Amino acid sequence: MIEVKNVFRHFESRSGLFSERRVVRAVDGLSFSLESGDVLGIVGESGCGKSTLGRLILGLMPPSAGEVLIEGQSLITLDRRERARLIQPVFQDPFSSLNPRQRVREIVGLPLAAQGALSAAKQRDAVMDMLARVGLSDAMADRFPAQLSGGQRQRVAIARALVLRPRIVVCDEPTSALDVSVQAQILNLLADLRKDLGLTYIFISHNLAVVEHVATEVAVMYLGRFVEHGPAAPLFATPRHPYTRALLASVLTPEPGVPIPDVGLGESYPDPSNVPAGCRFHPRCPMAIDRCRSDTPPTEPRDGRVTECFLAA
Ligand code: SF4
Repeated sequence: MIEVKNVFRHFESRSGLFSERRVVRAVDGLSFSLESGDVLGIVGESGCGKSTLGRLILGLMPPSAGEVLIEGQSLITLDRRERARLIQPVFQDPFSSLNPRQRVREIVGLPLAAQGALSAAKQRDAVMDMLARVGLSDAMADRFPAQLSGGQRQRVAIARALVLRPRIVVCDEPTSALDVSVQAQILNLLADLRKDLGLTYIFISHNLAVVEHVATEVAVMYLGRFVEHGPAAPLFATPRHPYTRALLASVLTPEPGVPIPDVGLGESYPDPSNVPAGCRFHPRCPMAIDRCRSDTPPTEPRDGRVTECFLAA
């Protein structure tokens, strides 16, 4: 369904006219593929490059090098309409991604209107069908975004993403802006829609608990690389990379009185324009050995999982 081949995305910046040029390596040589129906959860701290990767897969920006293939076709050879029929986004904040001056039926119908392939009656039927699928009643169709709750707005954003019946949906933190009580409803809705409509998801989140709920495979991203990537269940059961273990340890426990554990990462997240030599995680790694400061860790899979760490075995 998706093949990402050695994709890079670097950004150049200068803080002043005569200052040194800096290169931010947001995505730094990633390769992976997904089958139909897979859910790839991409997790990592803010600044790790996960949203940039999502935008590359959506075709919202070109890679600096490498290629993204969807159903065997290179993304850059597809025009906007073809791309929209194959892949759609759901973003974090439904309020800012919905036009406040349009009614729900117009918002959800816009992608159909842009394709121009359906009569007005068929377009209306498709919109109402999709609203029902995301759990919104007919009465909601005439409301404006400001008249909806946060959860209802995200349902509208999901309906708009799915009304063209794409094959792939990139969900970028789709529940982060919602109340905790609503988050589970939206996650369950996305899971049901995946089954009903045969969707493939790329699910970007900083929250491992959310990813564990939805993903069939997981990629842990750090400074533009997948430092650990493999099937979700074994990765959560036996994390091999020290960074994955630290992220898992930092998930809050629901038990009252149990403090947030010290995950031992020490240093704050490094500057992505100054990626450390050797293993890029070594300045924060509690297990670093000498060669971690100079040598690049292995990238070959073992038991179906890639772990970029010398000590993973
Ligand atoms: Fe830590 Fe070394 Fe493994 Fe990198 S390669 S994660 S620094 S032990």
